[in-house]
Amino acid sequence: MLLVIMGAQGTGKGTVAGILCENLGIVQLSTGDIFRKNLKDNTKLGIEANKYMSQGQLVPDEITVPMVAEALDSSESKNGIILDGFPRTTEQAMRLDEILKERNKKIDMVINLCSPREEIIERMITRRICPNCKATYNTKLSKPKVEGICDKCGAELTQREDDKSEEAINNRLEIYDTQTAPVLNYYKEKGIVLEEEITISKNRMAKEAAADVIEKLNEKGI
Ligand code: AMP
Repeated sequence: MLLVIMGAQGTGKGTVAGILCENLGIVQLSTGDIFRKNLKDNTKLGIEANKYMSQGQLVPDEITVPMVAEALDSSESKNGIILDGFPRTTEQAMRLDEILKERNKKIDMVINLCSPREEIIERMITRRICPNCKATYNTKLSKPKVEGICDKCGAELTQREDDKSEEAINNRLEIYDTQTAPVLNYYKEKGIVLEEEITISKNRMAKEAAADVIEKLNEKGI
């Protein structure tokens, strides 16, 4: 199974993708998580990617695309994969098509999450992440049991560098509107977007959205 999850930053993509992985027995490939892990480990890739990430800009395709191709070939992804944060431009979507064609694979479904813009900004500012196991929390909506500590692995929670700067937040949302939103049309034309948008808002949490997605995938026999 190959799924793509789309939606602006702060819509809960990562959280929904995580729940889908647990339920469907597939793995999550988050390009942002790979970059952050590399930065934490101080690798050349991480240092290079951070020049762009810290500004809220896209990391160049020469770095990002081969990294995704490699992850698609890994044995961990043999049961299925959900792409989270890739593709982010129509060019990346076309490159992904080529990569999949070479491997005789195809995207089964594209999931589109959405949230009201004011909530998105608030969620980015209040988001906290576990640098160890990647669990995501929120200082208002989904607090950990012990403040500042990951429920799952006990590591100290941190704030993403690009969530600290208003400029980086605005850059990312602008890139989403101008470069990433058109990717959805690219997939709509191919007829592989899972019906209408799946909404997450203060009244409707990630768990419900994930259950909704699973029901729709079942209905379609995916
Ligand atoms: P995310 O965790 O998905 O919000 O990604 C964090 C940052 O990583 C983005 O703001 C970009 O700088 C970089 N990034 C993640 N995915 C991509 C991608 N597909 N193409 C280019 N840059 C990316």
